[in-house]
Amino acid sequence: MTNLVPLKKFPVLIAIVAALMVSSMSVLSVETPVQTAIQSATSGDTPGRLSGARNDSPALQQSTPIDPAAATQAWLDSVPQDKREKSDAYFEGGYWLILWNYLVAAAISILLLSSRISARLRDFSERLTRYKTPEVACYSVLYLLLVYVLSFPLNVYEHFFREHQYGLATQSFPAWFREQLIGLGIALIGGTIVLIVLYAVFRRAPKTWWTWGTGVAVVFSFVLVFIAPVFIEPLFNTYKPLKTPEISEPILAMARANEIPVKQVFEVDASRQTTRVSASVSGFLGTTRIALNDNLLKQCTLPEIRLVMAHEMGHYVLNHGAKLLTYLGIFILIGFALTRILFNTGVRRWGEKWDVRGVADPAGLPLLALIFTTLLFLATPLLNTVVRVTEREADAFGINTAREPDGMAKVALKLGAYRKLNPTALEEFIFYDHPSGRARIRMAMDWKAANLSAGETSKSESQDPKETEE
Ligand SMILES: [Zn+2]
Repeated sequence: MTNLVPLKKFPVLIAIVAALMVSSMSVLSVETPVQTAIQSATSGDTPGRLSGARNDSPALQQSTPIDPAAATQAWLDSVPQDKREKSDAYFEGGYWLILWNYLVAAAISILLLSSRISARLRDFSERLTRYKTPEVACYSVLYLLLVYVLSFPLNVYEHFFREHQYGLATQSFPAWFREQLIGLGIALIGGTIVLIVLYAVFRRAPKTWWTWGTGVAVVFSFVLVFIAPVFIEPLFNTYKPLKTPEISEPILAMARANEIPVKQVFEVDASRQTTRVSASVSGFLGTTRIALNDNLLKQCTLPEIRLVMAHEMGHYVLNHGAKLLTYLGIFILIGFALTRILFNTGVRRWGEKWDVRGVADPAGLPLLALIFTTLLFLATPLLNTVVRVTEREADAFGINTAREPDGMAKVALKLGAYRKLNPTALEEFIFYDHPSGRARIRMAMDWKAANLSAGETSKSESQDPKETEE
């Protein structure tokens, strides 16, 4: 969902954007840039030997019990130092970007309030019309445009220059900017509609808006997730049915085994924007679609692709879309409740100075945004953890379905090209919305070790007694 980044620039749309979380969490984990060096390293000696024991080879099962900790370390050690340093630098830079993004959003809100620009935008909208709905619409469009322009320098650094600097982006500036404008257009239309409805709620229920407002936010999130694959994603990329039966058949076989009602797998031309490998499940109910991107097809072997797709199916089978929407609703409810208290306090204190009359006054929108982004910033570890735990469930489903522990380790290493492979526990808790590479490889190796010993048991049980005597 990196394409929809412009939406994320608007703090007020966070409720919707958080819904993107629902779909972007699905945009798995397996985003990883072209890393042929790492790829060849992983097929190198040490892990190769460790992974040499195929489950269907009883002799090896018995002769090489694996030590999951040592096997995990061997995979991690196979990544060259310079690659590791580069991906660590990229990912750690992302920690600071969370802070900078928050500070820029907060500064914009404070500027709009204290300079009374927000009040003047409201006055201008009031003069234009005496009806409330067009007034809110007019204010919203101007506000969203202003926020986009003011945060553009950080946006262009983070999503264009920095991505190129690390070799993750494939677009020229005009192509990138064109997509920014499309995203801005969507944000203006969607954001204005949401704000019109929210302000109608504010006017009718100035005291209990936070409960009704949560309902509005959840409904819009649902609609967004539902329509995204049909109306939004095609604006940025082309989806077409995967035509290679050698790849699509094994994937569809896993889908059939798990009663997933999909008849085809889609291929998306993500290489238009990025070198990252990724796959996704998007949509809801009737619009559910499983897609893998062309980078994944080009760079991964079938075992790796099966593992990735099994992870995506995990999101579907475990009903993660509905679960995350529910969590989102709870977060928004708590967030709106706190926002209401803080907003009223702010208006009592500075309302006159900022010329903000109350929650139903659009001029107060930057204050709502300031409070909500602050809460969201503080809740970063909590939100990441909720998503990460969900991703771990999909990982567990993926490994059990695909039964490809080495494929999982290899994919985790490819991810390591842009996500720090071996973080501290605290780092992982605060910043990771997916399990780290180390955690994923360890899961794969634990699975492999357990699976091997289970294989031994069943073998000895099923053995012919005569053979045992021998
Ligand atoms: Zn996932």
